[in-house]
Amino acid sequence: MTRTALYPGSFDPITNGHLDILRQSLALADKVVVAIGIHPGKTPLFSFDERTHLIHAAAAEAFGDADAARIEVVSFSNLVVETARDFGAGYLVRGLRDGTDLDFEMQMAGTNGTLAPDIRTVFLPASPAVRHITATLVRQIAKMGGDITAFVPPAVAGPLKTQASTAVPLSGTTQTTE
Ligand code: ADP
Repeated sequence: MTRTALYPGSFDPITNGHLDILRQSLALADKVVVAIGIHPGKTPLFSFDERTHLIHAAAAEAFGDADAARIEVVSFSNLVVETARDFGAGYLVRGLRDGTDLDFEMQMAGTNGTLAPDIRTVFLPASPAVRHITATLVRQIAKMGGDITAFVPPAVAGPLKTQASTAVPLSGTTQTTE
């Protein structure tokens, strides 16, 4: 039986932190569905298609083509447990960076477990080298012209610099937070 895990998030763009969780997920599951949440009120830095492309490129670069082929990228705007069912995923993967993540994630896991008892949440601890990374901060650094190469995969660094330099300034209304 194929063991499928769903890894939901914004991935705007994929960072070394996300990649670390993806690597751990691939060791546990046969297939990992990366589910990009679409929020009507928010304007992301990268479109869904761009984020999808960057995830596939970063995964191929980091894991090789065979393991990258076990990753599917989809979008979702409904309940995460419904998305998991839609893609045959029995596991929801979430990364834990610190106690703040844990408090929030425990609420989410409890709620999702009540909505769908057959779908299990799996918490994966961030590796020490990447646990400080958040996509929000990485976008802000890029928009201010800072060096983001320590925070994102090589496949993301170039597109992020380009995209951030053309984005509306930080004080504008399109800044997003997660
Ligand atoms: P972010 O919080 O960086 O903007 P997302 O909202 O896309 O990212 O988060 C999706 C999932 O990835 C969450 O489970 C989150 O805890 C996890 N995650 C994000 N960054 C890291 C990191 N640096 N280390 C471990 N997990 C992370």
